[in-house]
Amino acid sequence: MSYTLPEGYLPYAQAWEEKIGAFIEFTPGAAPSGMVEAGVSPGSGPADLEGLPFAVKDNIAVRGFSISCGSKLLEGLRSPYTATAVQKLEAAGAAVIGKTNMDEFGMGSSTDASALKQTNTPWDQSRVAGGSSGGSAAAVAAGLVPFALGSDTGGSIRQPAAFCGVAGLKPTYGAVSRYGLVAYASSLEGIGVLAGTVARCRSVFSVIRGKDPRDQTSRDAPAGAPPLEERVPSRTIGVLSAEAVARAIAAAGSAGTGEGRPAAEAASAAEAARIAAGAAELEPEVRRGFETARERFIALGYKLEDVELPILKYGVPAYYTIATAEASANLARFDGIRYGRRPGWAENPDDLIDKAREAGFGAEVKLRILLGTFVLRSGFQDRYYLRAQRIRAGIRRSFEALLGSSGYGGAPPRFDAILMPVFPTRAFGRGDTALSPFAQKAADLYTCCANLAGLPALSFPALVEGGLPVGVQLLGRAFAEGVILDIAETYEAAHPFPHPRGYRAFWS
Ligand code: GLN
Repeated sequence: MSYTLPEGYLPYAQAWEEKIGAFIEFTPGAAPSGMVEAGVSPGSGPADLEGLPFAVKDNIAVRGFSISCGSKLLEGLRSPYTATAVQKLEAAGAAVIGKTNMDEFGMGSSTDASALKQTNTPWDQSRVAGGSSGGSAAAVAAGLVPFALGSDTGGSIRQPAAFCGVAGLKPTYGAVSRYGLVAYASSLEGIGVLAGTVARCRSVFSVIRGKDPRDQTSRDAPAGAPPLEERVPSRTIGVLSAEAVARAIAAAGSAGTGEGRPAAEAASAAEAARIAAGAAELEPEVRRGFETARERFIALGYKLEDVELPILKYGVPAYYTIATAEASANLARFDGIRYGRRPGWAENPDDLIDKAREAGFGAEVKLRILLGTFVLRSGFQDRYYLRAQRIRAGIRRSFEALLGSSGYGGAPPRFDAILMPVFPTRAFGRGDTALSPFAQKAADLYTCCANLAGLPALSFPALVEGGLPVGVQLLGRAFAEGVILDIAETYEAAHPFPHPRGYRAFWS
């Protein structure tokens, strides 16, 4: 496994990287990791990745490379081993060219929560690349790599893909091994692909997927699942519009102020519901992009039908309850002893851990550990965590009623895919034009449901509005990545994906 850098690539890449800051470590021309263990072989994919470089989010292990997770606590740490997904790509002849920036431990929607550097969308340097896989998305969008690996816990591949104008695939839960992915919320997340074209997304996914003895949650696609290698005829798409989502949230607002609560608590719940409803509202350009995509799919011969999913109103609260609970457990390993920078002096072991975490974790990470510890507090599990798990099961059942379950063989489902927005805004700015941390969380509504339900989802650029790309999202049945990739590829063939000014196509 190695790559050949095309003529003119190095100055091009350096100039872009100065503007976008996609990489935490960028090593074009250096020896690749070269670690493919016995027994690891690429999935069934076409052999078209030979000789290509790729970038890897800095929470996925590549031997000899940085594994900082965008955190001060792990800054400078080098991985002693390589994630299975990366090994499979190396076995297919591709090679790692660098590690990309991200929100600290994957917690965020802008990459501005990285403790190490700032990443900008290649479309406008004053705006964020999205997150948490912002570095991977920006590197692909600027043409620095033909594809990159990211991770998606609640939208971290699809949202930056939308902000940067590339394709982003979050596979079915368990379709790709998580071995070598630093855990944030293990039951929600997975490794996925960001690429310049849907076809590239497909070939990378076909190489990295499959059961891995090192990850007991990983699975092969079940018998009867649509094949990845051939196009599958699909015609019916359910549309989850912003209006349907607004109706669901409005219902949540009235339920949130329910009786039996102290007045102050009810008032603050009502205020939170109001901000959440506002944050989920699509900005006019995104609305226009979504409507255009809907019309284009009709023109391409698809049958579109509106759907309602009232349970969506509980998506974000359930997601943040489960994600923070799991994060508080997963991040307990970062204690300055086993991992993390050790403070120069400490009174005793507890003081050492306190000092390491105080200096090493950023504000967002601390907030989430506290929230997770709170929802898991003894006597509180029923009220928060178990309730969130019941909502999660309800969300999965609601999607299965539309798309079918992972048990193939029964009656054909109502829809081949669900079309929905990715995020309410295009790439946002900083300072006055930034989205508040609360609004960013509320806006995860459109992406976090696929993670709660464990379903595959693909974000791709529908068009450019006001100089920035607008993404839309297709959500599919478990292990039906082939179907959503096909639908997106049909769209892309009629409406090729846009590129930022200054983009050069090095990787045909
Ligand atoms: N924005 C979401 C969060 O902050 C999703 C992040 C992710 O998918 N890693 O948790």
